[in-house]
Amino acid sequence: MSNPIVVQIVLDKPLAQGFDYLWDEKKLGSLPKVGNVVEIPFARSKAIGIVIKVSAHSDYDFNKLKDVEKIAPLPPLDPALLRLMNFASQYYIHSLGETMLPTIPQMWKKAESWEKIPKILEDAKTKNQKNIKALTSEGFVAKDQLNLEQKNALECLDHPNRGFRAILLQGQTGSGKTAVFLNWLAEILSDKNAQVLLLVPEINLTPQLERRVRAYFPEKKMVVLHSGISEKKRGIAWYEAMTGEAQIILGTRLAALTPMPNLRAIVVDEEHDTSYKQQEGTRYSARDLAIWRAHDQRIPILLASATPSLETWMAAKDGRYESIRIDRRAQGANLPKVHLINARDPQNQFSPGDEKAPKQKSLITKTLAKAITKNLENKKQSLILINRRGFAPVLSCGSCSWLSKCTQCSTYMVMHKSGMFGKKAVLNCHHCGLVRPIPSFCPECGDADLKTLGHGTQKLEDAIEEMWPDARVLRVDADASRKSKGAEELFQKIHDGEVDIIVGTQMIAKGHDYQNIGLVAVLDADSRLYSADFRAAEKLFAQLVQVAGRAGRSGKEDQDGGDIYIETQYPEAAVFQYLLRHDIDGFLAYTANERDEAKLPPFSYQGLVHAEAKSLEKAIEFLNALKGRLKSQGFMTKELKVYDPVPKAVMRVAGSERAQLVIESSNRKMLQEALEFVDQDLRRDSQGRISKTTRIRWLIERDPIAI
Ligand code: ADP
Ligand code: ZN
Ligand code: ZN
Repeated sequence: MSNPIVVQIVLDKPLAQGFDYLWDEKKLGSLPKVGNVVEIPFARSKAIGIVIKVSAHSDYDFNKLKDVEKIAPLPPLDPALLRLMNFASQYYIHSLGETMLPTIPQMWKKAESWEKIPKILEDAKTKNQKNIKALTSEGFVAKDQLNLEQKNALECLDHPNRGFRAILLQGQTGSGKTAVFLNWLAEILSDKNAQVLLLVPEINLTPQLERRVRAYFPEKKMVVLHSGISEKKRGIAWYEAMTGEAQIILGTRLAALTPMPNLRAIVVDEEHDTSYKQQEGTRYSARDLAIWRAHDQRIPILLASATPSLETWMAAKDGRYESIRIDRRAQGANLPKVHLINARDPQNQFSPGDEKAPKQKSLITKTLAKAITKNLENKKQSLILINRRGFAPVLSCGSCSWLSKCTQCSTYMVMHKSGMFGKKAVLNCHHCGLVRPIPSFCPECGDADLKTLGHGTQKLEDAIEEMWPDARVLRVDADASRKSKGAEELFQKIHDGEVDIIVGTQMIAKGHDYQNIGLVAVLDADSRLYSADFRAAEKLFAQLVQVAGRAGRSGKEDQDGGDIYIETQYPEAAVFQYLLRHDIDGFLAYTANERDEAKLPPFSYQGLVHAEAKSLEKAIEFLNALKGRLKSQGFMTKELKVYDPVPKAVMRVAGSERAQLVIESSNRKMLQEALEFVDQDLRRDSQGRISKTTRIRWLIERDPIAI
């Protein structure tokens, strides 16, 4: 008998290593290859796994090893992808199997349907040929139509050196970045086999962009990958990417992990967008992985944004990335005028006798109401933005500008009604863990009128209907826009001018080209600015710039840029002052300085340990014990801080309560080692990621984007 073949296989399970199986060449009809997707017997059932090693040895008794049963009708995953997965697994402290298997579409993980797959692919091909969409020239700007700035940008991109380059393309919304990078990709795609990856943040961005990209590459095969398409469609698209049949891969974060054997360039549009961060499973940043991938595969990557993330902006400033700018709006429209409405100022408020004064106290000030009325009279649309996520609010004084700022660090303390600190409500800093009783009086001015920020958005629609009974009001909520069809319909309504006032979350402000919005209003800016999250100002600024970009986008040369109204009790805040001047670099420089002083990211690196338990006390206790072990093992040093555990901003989720522990270091390697220790330490008493003794569910997160 010839030597048996042993393969090591990883599964979608929180297990540190792979499992050995035997490979029967005769039965399976081929030799094993690293990257093969296979079906194996596991426990008392079957599982799908990926071959990560082939050898003739096993530490186990051959007689105890089971046989691989089936191979998926797929080429093996390519070595570049395997390197990427290995890196992601190590960096994000998640097992290789758990990192790889969720990136494979369901269709390829159902062994019982593997026989039917050739037919599915065949059908898809003929259907595709029949369905080649009528091409529009929507948004198509040919190379020779680019303006001077765009031409220069394209020239900078078009480098003879085809190795790794990371390039930041910075320019206001509407400055023509998309037109530049699509022309760049067109040049790369003149090589017949080349593939390019275009990452976008949200699924509701894809339909419009999809048409636009298609207009550039009528003769190329493009596939779209995001979670809003059917499993079958996704399965086929992924297959076409992995076989090189598709040249253009347009998708959301999960597309960054697609096998693409001939990948030649990557574009990450709106690179600052937080939806690039995966929030479950392996909590990767698709942008960061895309950069790693480009580096590893020695190809260029372009990061485009009007408001780059501080990380990327700093890298461009330090010369680690190249930097290209376009500064004018492509179609010549002016930037919108920003108005700050001081919500504290009585002049801006309704008085009871006023015409139009709403019955209930509303978030809309008199000044804003007047502007909306005028905008309606001008037959323009108004966009009113609100966010309605649950969060632990910051405490503020009604008379002066006092806010519950942490005395130990640069973040804001938030209110927790009851829980870990006895039955009393307290203020708690989510960064350093400081706990303080709720003051009865304002520490600055002595006033007793202390209240939490961010109340009252609920009643907004009622107020609007009451104040403008004749206006056609459209609500766009997250649920509607998540379904790509639903979103398309809503956006069409807006485009067709069937609505006058649109109320929605910032989602609606992203990426869409609206032609008739004359006014944008932001009502709850304060509660988004002052929160436990140290990135709150950066996120708000990016959103406001995006939103501002929606106003006055129309193409006429002398068009005024529209108006953006922000209601705030703190008009002097830096974020608003820089916005007023459209000074993006000024704001980023200011923020960089603040972070540097507080040694917060990107001037340090963070990891989080999440714990979820029946009660908050249990979760905190669990993390405290972990902190104790980190200390006794010598991990806590001058260069590595482990803070006190705190409740999460959204504390309660379906019957369980959640807490987190922040670990911070200026040294990446030290952080990595500490997190690896945490992983091993907690695994010792766990089944998967659930503690056997306490039943507490835990998870490690690297580079969190919200604290
Ligand atoms: P960004 O990606 O920076 O938001 P876009 O590339 O989407 O900007 O350009 C904004 C609008 O201007 C689009 O409708 C686009 O078709 C148009 N546009 C871009 N460049 C030009 C140009 N050189 N001439 C005319 N229109 C242009
Ligand atoms: Zn006060
Ligand atoms: Zn603090």
